[in-house]
Amino acid sequence: MSAPAIMVLLPSLPKADAILPYLRRIDESGMYSNNGPLYRAFCEGFSAFLANRTDAKGTVDSAVVANGTLAIELALRHVAKPNRRHVIMPAYTFVATAHAVVNTGHVPFLADCCEDSLTLTPQTARAAMARLGEDPAAVVVVSPFGGPIDIPSWERFEAETGVPVVFDAAAAATSLTYIGHQPVCLSLHATKVFGIGEAGAIVSRDLSLVQRMRGMAGFGFDGAARTSAYLGGNYKVSEYTCAVGLAVLDDMDRKIAALFDLTRSYQRGLGNGAKLQVGCGEDWVSLTTNVILPDDRVSSVLAAFEKNGIMWRRWWGDGVHTHPAFASVPRADLTVSERVAYRTIGVPFHEKLTQDQVALVCQAICG
Ligand SMILES: *Cc1c(COP(=O)(O)O)cnc(C)c1O
Repeated sequence: MSAPAIMVLLPSLPKADAILPYLRRIDESGMYSNNGPLYRAFCEGFSAFLANRTDAKGTVDSAVVANGTLAIELALRHVAKPNRRHVIMPAYTFVATAHAVVNTGHVPFLADCCEDSLTLTPQTARAAMARLGEDPAAVVVVSPFGGPIDIPSWERFEAETGVPVVFDAAAAATSLTYIGHQPVCLSLHATKVFGIGEAGAIVSRDLSLVQRMRGMAGFGFDGAARTSAYLGGNYKVSEYTCAVGLAVLDDMDRKIAALFDLTRSYQRGLGNGAKLQVGCGEDWVSLTTNVILPDDRVSSVLAAFEKNGIMWRRWWGDGVHTHPAFASVPRADLTVSERVAYRTIGVPFHEKLTQDQVALVCQAICG
């Protein structure tokens, strides 16, 4: 008999008892959606949580919407330059980024990423722009599995090129170190580090941008007026979602500390050329942890995982361009993306993982 599988991801959201006091507040208010009291409390609490972890103290606001993909769509619809066809985005990302771009009426132009940071850099974006031969409507920069993004370098990029930048920082709710005036889009999906079920958020220091996002999420109503001031749709979250969100906030500091501990156990056990993403476990954590393997060891490590019942994932697959739905989208040279997609492997990472299990995974990695 083989040992039971070691799960790769086990989301853990607050238990019913932790959510109950917030549910009772819904009973009392009789408000179930439409920017009710729990929505306002959660936006405020979430913004304060982010501001305290970055150097944007006190000035950051957030619009919570139905999911992270829609957060990107709303931000893009608002900032994209009119009458431009393409949006530059990395090929190495979760496929949601590409869906969001297409849903705003744009064509993704897939750019390569930086080998060390796994992200788009202003240099790779400029190379993609040169390849494209025309100005894009926008650039979407993606946080690699929750890893931090150098936002100030993208502020300079936008100032210099006039091309608006939107951040798909889906999994980076606990690792942002700076928030400026550009929209930062987060996912609050159950599988993300700040998981509350299904939700997303647009965060910025530009308070009028956040207000616009909130308005667009609710039929383009600006404030209390029931007239559509601009185009939007219904991308709202209910008070029940915000109840879960408030319970998550209550427990976040403990959760972050536990995830840091777990990441450090991995760090101590890794060797033989295998490493974590840059800064992972030191400066930041997320809910999916990847090891980056030497190319010539990938197949033997994966075979050892299979043999020992250790689950693993290439969380972003082989890149957006390998999905049939995006097979024909235009792209720059993607040599680096294909290389990093091959060697970047999601390993078991969740709060139920024991030290012995981490040791077993590390043994399989070290060979
Ligand atoms: C999860 C994720 C999304 C999508 O977020 P949802 O809330 O599931 O819509 C988008 N981009 C990246 C990089 C993600 O990891």
